[in-house]
Amino acid sequence: QATNAMLMARRQAAIPRGVGHSHQIFIAKGENAEVWDVEGRRYIDFAGGIAVLNTGHRNPAVIEAVKAQLDQYTHTCFQVLAYEPYVELAERLNAKAPGDFAKKTLFLTTGAEAVENAIKIARAHNGRSGVIAFTGGYHGRTLLTLGLTGKVAPYKTGFGPFPGEIFHARFPSALHGVSVDDAIASVEQIFKNDIEARRVAAIIIEPVQGEGGFNVAPPELMQRLRALCDQHGILMICDEVQTGAGRTGTWFACEQSGIAPDLITLAKSMAGGFPISAVVGRAEVMDAPAAGGLGGTYAGSPMACAAALAVMDEFEKHDLLQRSRDVGQRITASLQALAKKHTCIADVRGLGAMVAMELCKNGDPHQPDADLTKALAAEATKRGLIILTCGTYGNVVRILVPLTASDALLDEGLAIIAASLEAAFA
Ligand code: PMP
Repeated sequence: QATNAMLMARRQAAIPRGVGHSHQIFIAKGENAEVWDVEGRRYIDFAGGIAVLNTGHRNPAVIEAVKAQLDQYTHTCFQVLAYEPYVELAERLNAKAPGDFAKKTLFLTTGAEAVENAIKIARAHNGRSGVIAFTGGYHGRTLLTLGLTGKVAPYKTGFGPFPGEIFHARFPSALHGVSVDDAIASVEQIFKNDIEARRVAAIIIEPVQGEGGFNVAPPELMQRLRALCDQHGILMICDEVQTGAGRTGTWFACEQSGIAPDLITLAKSMAGGFPISAVVGRAEVMDAPAAGGLGGTYAGSPMACAAALAVMDEFEKHDLLQRSRDVGQRITASLQALAKKHTCIADVRGLGAMVAMELCKNGDPHQPDADLTKALAAEATKRGLIILTCGTYGNVVRILVPLTASDALLDEGLAIIAASLEAAFA
């Protein structure tokens, strides 16, 4: 019987170190919001494969849909032989996306690919080259998306040069004194110092920054960016790879800021663990690239389309959007109670069930405590909880638990966070 340690040794010998690992654990089985490792130890999963498992590990409806699909056909390449699940999924996402205009949807395989394609489509539509992204943003690991990503270590280190004509505006943070006015002023500054507005193809923003630390874009920012985009003929792209598929209490997080972006990227939880991503957008923009300009061999695989349709059914059947808001409230209340006791908790924030707490030293929000954050996550693992960190300074603990987790399981996990924090100080 292999142990975690034995498998880790094999992993280290066979796999490059660039593929990081947050936990020294090899999984044997996953079920809803629990996993068991190869040694038979049980863990509560508050990571959800980094925001992929809103409907839980092996959601029975998803597994059933994929099994049925496996018995029909598994691959044709959509550009060679088309299949209905791809079309149906596009129709359903078009109907769900905000905005009173016709929409179309393209499927790909990864979040980074969706972001790359959104930029390609934007450029094809308005014939411009510039792109504005935000500090602390994360958009993927391909060269274009790394160019957009606003954090150097570890993502960008050693991989340049990155594609040109990408500029970074400031993402607001109430905690750290960056206002919405500051953020908008930084965009205006880019127009003054770097590139004229009429050469900017798109502004891309995460409605809640994921890897960057669960920083919520205030609705006012989204509205003012929308207005700036309209004023200058720039396309607005919302990267909802992490926020989408119901994580924040609405299917798309941007719905809550009352704006309709021109393009939305989606991936991760949309198919509950099967690889697929999407660009959903304004029909005339989506139609800009010529026939043959978009696609991919595996893009929109039949199994992933079947899984994604089942995920959307599960959301409707069990009102998982309401559940997302309820889960968020439960987690937030628990973390806020902790924050009252511990001055190391500088902030508890999030949207819907996308919740995090930021940790600091000496009760000072401007002194990030990455060591405590790491120690807390390690202690939680020892006590049977899988949890992730994030943030520009690595000092944010984030929760991406399946929305299908029971209240009892949530409370069990939250109690482990509280106990781990006590232990980290002991
Ligand atoms: N955009 C955002 C907002 C993300 O959170 C991620 C993944 N963490 C990506 C893009 C890239 O997705 P993938 O890893 O599937 O390429």
